[in-house]
Amino acid sequence: MTQYETVIGLEVHVELKTRSKIFCDSTAEFGNEPNTHVCPVCMGLPGVLPVVNKNVVEYAIRAALALNCRIASFSKFDRKNYYYPDMPKNYQISQYDLPIAEHGYLNIEVNGETRRIGITRLHMEEDTGKLVHQGNITTTPFSLVDYNRAGVPLIEIVSEPDLRSPEEAYEYLNKLKAIIQYTGVSDCKMEEGSLRCDANVSVRPAGSKEFGTKTEIKNMNSFKALQKALTYEVERQIEVVEDGGRIIQETRTWDEGKGVTLSMRSKEYAHDYRYLPDPDLVPMVIDREWVEDIKRSLPELPDDRKERYVSEFGLPAYDAMVLTNTKELADYFEACVAAYSNPKAVSNWVMGDLSRLLNANNTDITSCPIKPEQLAAMLQLLEKGTISGKIAKTVFEEMFASGKDAETIVKEKGLVQISDEGAIAAIVDDVIAKNQKSVEDFRAGKDRALGFLVGQVMKASRGKANPELVNKLLKERLS
Ligand SMILES: [Zn+2]
Repeated sequence: MTQYETVIGLEVHVELKTRSKIFCDSTAEFGNEPNTHVCPVCMGLPGVLPVVNKNVVEYAIRAALALNCRIASFSKFDRKNYYYPDMPKNYQISQYDLPIAEHGYLNIEVNGETRRIGITRLHMEEDTGKLVHQGNITTTPFSLVDYNRAGVPLIEIVSEPDLRSPEEAYEYLNKLKAIIQYTGVSDCKMEEGSLRCDANVSVRPAGSKEFGTKTEIKNMNSFKALQKALTYEVERQIEVVEDGGRIIQETRTWDEGKGVTLSMRSKEYAHDYRYLPDPDLVPMVIDREWVEDIKRSLPELPDDRKERYVSEFGLPAYDAMVLTNTKELADYFEACVAAYSNPKAVSNWVMGDLSRLLNANNTDITSCPIKPEQLAAMLQLLEKGTISGKIAKTVFEEMFASGKDAETIVKEKGLVQISDEGAIAAIVDDVIAKNQKSVEDFRAGKDRALGFLVGQVMKASRGKANPELVNKLLKERLS
């Protein structure tokens, strides 16, 4: 049987969160009534001239530097010509042969191994408008068009065909999103369309140097969809080749409902778009001093932050990776550690109970009902022995549901741990008297019987007995 190697490259579009659009002063804000965020420039009316938004160039450079790209000293805008009603000018202003940045990379981790994935280029362009159909495009009696999004700034980031599996593609996209979010130039919300991803996929016999014919997959609107679509497409291509067929270079769409990729149209080539330099926009000479200023203003990025969590906080690499995955989560973690200086204990709660509750409630750290100081205060109660580890879990859930402080909940519900030896001894004696069989078992060498007796004491105290004291008192009486 032939072994196949998968080759994937990703093209990612990211909407920049500047206040105004890329070539006019219309607002770049998301949503609102259709065709209210428009002006003669982004409507493509005759006689108007575009002017580059300097903020867009700055954001593009910022993202490019974070992705280790080389920033061009000379760059220009080009017209990409195509006919579709979502572009009022019938061309999109993009960048062709002289993009703002090239030759970058980012690192991903797959199966504990670090892989460097090349970034071919990063360029700026304007977003298109949106067509709205009733039902779908073939059955709708008419289509509406909304130009609010037309002219919203985008950067397109093209990877090298360095990805070797759907998992690697997933990790790449995840890392790219984290880095861009850290730089603050976009919120990268795939559901709102501020991050969009197309994939080029091909397969080839393992060991082969030549690339197979690739297909381009569009319309994947979540990280999970990306992985599912790629997995499906790789299997489909292998099947075609195994059956003696030929892969057709085409654009395919991911059908989430059916779980398949479907042929959309034959793939366009660059020459189909008749790119030409936009004569309305002067080329840009990028000032090196400006680039250096932007570089100095970059925040600590995910890889550096991860390393610092290992060296400064002594966290395992895995914890460091999970905690630095989004800037918000890392900021939350550090705010907790500032108030309670046991990083591993904080990490365990954030990655364990807190993540579980956030997931179960379909929310994320940005709308977490427990403030970092509240989590820290709960950990202090736990450390002082006011509450047991078991009660802490109950208290934590209540904090999440009500937003109340741990101390208030402990008082209201009478959850203070019993650490009074006399009170626990009474329960221990009672449990021993009622469970003679287990006592005999323990004395006969069955260690497990002790666990059962501890459990009985905890149950009788409704979880409030200090477990260390319970263990100590039981052992004293049984030995
Ligand atoms: Zn406008």
